[in-house]
Amino acid sequence: MWQKILQNSSFFLSLLQFDCDLAEQYRGAGCSCGGKLHSARYERQPRGGPDDLPIEFNMRESFCCAEEGCRRRTTPPSLRFLGRRVYLGAVVVLVSAMLHGITEKRAKAIREFVGVNQQTLERWREWWQENFTRTQLWKGVRARFVPAVDSSKLPASLLERFGEPTKPEALLAVLRLLTPLTAGSNCAMAISPPA
Ligand SMILES: [Zn+2]
Repeated sequence: MWQKILQNSSFFLSLLQFDCDLAEQYRGAGCSCGGKLHSARYERQPRGGPDDLPIEFNMRESFCCAEEGCRRRTTPPSLRFLGRRVYLGAVVVLVSAMLHGITEKRAKAIREFVGVNQQTLERWREWWQENFTRTQLWKGVRARFVPAVDSSKLPASLLERFGEPTKPEALLAVLRLLTPLTAGSNCAMAISPPA
């Protein structure tokens, strides 16, 4: 059942742990100017995950250079947040994947369970087909798969390469693969992720 994973708090908490580890690596590396990074994390209000996650889960890790005259912001990649979308990355991936070959009945179940409206689902579908497929990331990633992943069926076709699509392992693998799109450099902005 695809719903199960979206209610699996320990899955989402493991994503938080990965994000904290990633953030520590970024902090350790410092700013490109050589300055130290100070925490400048901010709160988000992600939708679509379990209700019982701690407030910590909503905090987006981010840093600000401590150097006077630089102050550059560094936002590390994330397994939780996919660009500026309000829905969690896991929700965007899994729900978009479930839309392939979907019946009206299942579409309704998805809308009711996750609270995503039809318009948002359409935007996600468009993003996978028209924006994601044009990214450098996808061009690099698709070359790794033989036979090729059917880009007209993304992200379902990608998820199934990592095992049973509704299992945490497959979803985690796809989220990991997408992390270059989630960092707060201009790459996430360049592909204009929809809200
Ligand atoms: Zn700096």
